[in-house]
Amino acid sequence: MKVFVSVDMEGVSGLTDAEEMRAGGRGYERGCELMTGDANAAIRAAFDAGAAEVVVTDSHGGGRNLRADLIDPRCTLVRGPYKPMRMAEGLDGTFDVALYVGYHARAGVPDGVLNHTWMGREIYNVRLNGEIAGEIRLMAAYAATLGVPVGLVAGDAAACAEAREALGGVATVAVKQGSDRYAAALVPPPRAQQMIYEGAARALAAPDGWRHGTVAAPYTLEIEWSSTAIAQSVAVVPGVKQAGTRATSFTTDDFTEIVGLLGVCATIAGEVGCTGLHYD
Ligand SMILES: [Zn+2]
Repeated sequence: MKVFVSVDMEGVSGLTDAEEMRAGGRGYERGCELMTGDANAAIRAAFDAGAAEVVVTDSHGGGRNLRADLIDPRCTLVRGPYKPMRMAEGLDGTFDVALYVGYHARAGVPDGVLNHTWMGREIYNVRLNGEIAGEIRLMAAYAATLGVPVGLVAGDAAACAEAREALGGVATVAVKQGSDRYAAALVPPPRAQQMIYEGAARALAAPDGWRHGTVAAPYTLEIEWSSTAIAQSVAVVPGVKQAGTRATSFTTDDFTEIVGLLGVCATIAGEVGCTGLHYD
């Protein structure tokens, strides 16, 4: 069995503060250790379930958050910024199942801890084929085009609810219950990591519960930006159309172009907004 693990940071146990997600911010180094702890719980479950290979991708911000010195040495770690497939870099059709750890709710979900879609300040909403989509939906749809189902989503309770809705009751592990975007009731990390381990072990032992996030081609990605300037700049990319003063639209039969475009858009939007990742 080959297992892919994509690890974001906002849904990691013990973390609620945007500062903890930003290199140089208060608590960031500790946040990286906690992120690695959640990842290790899923990785250990995968190897205990008989996985021959586990590939782990660092899916948050610049992709340099997971501690290479603390991660389970049996896995392969994919890290670094500007990975072409970003949160899905390293995934291909040879994997049996994907696990999403540390994931968060889409933009606009009030009790989603640090809720956002792809960018915290620059993007109001993303729609995939007309339906509002968060990162869970987008990544699951990409995995499905490669024939890879999702086995587990771990994150805050709102992310888990979103995953179950988008993926027909996929297995989830909630490590915190948001009370708003910046506050949550937490399961302390040692217990949360045990819950992730047990949830992943159960999920990997029951392939019937794995879910394909299939979306029918052609794929249309609409992004509602916070600023007209970002929409205008992104619309210069060939194939991207402006769709109203603050929105862009892109249609393709190749989902790798959707994921790639999200990455390119984020780079452009970050430059135009001169903000990087913010949540305010
Ligand atoms: Zn993130």
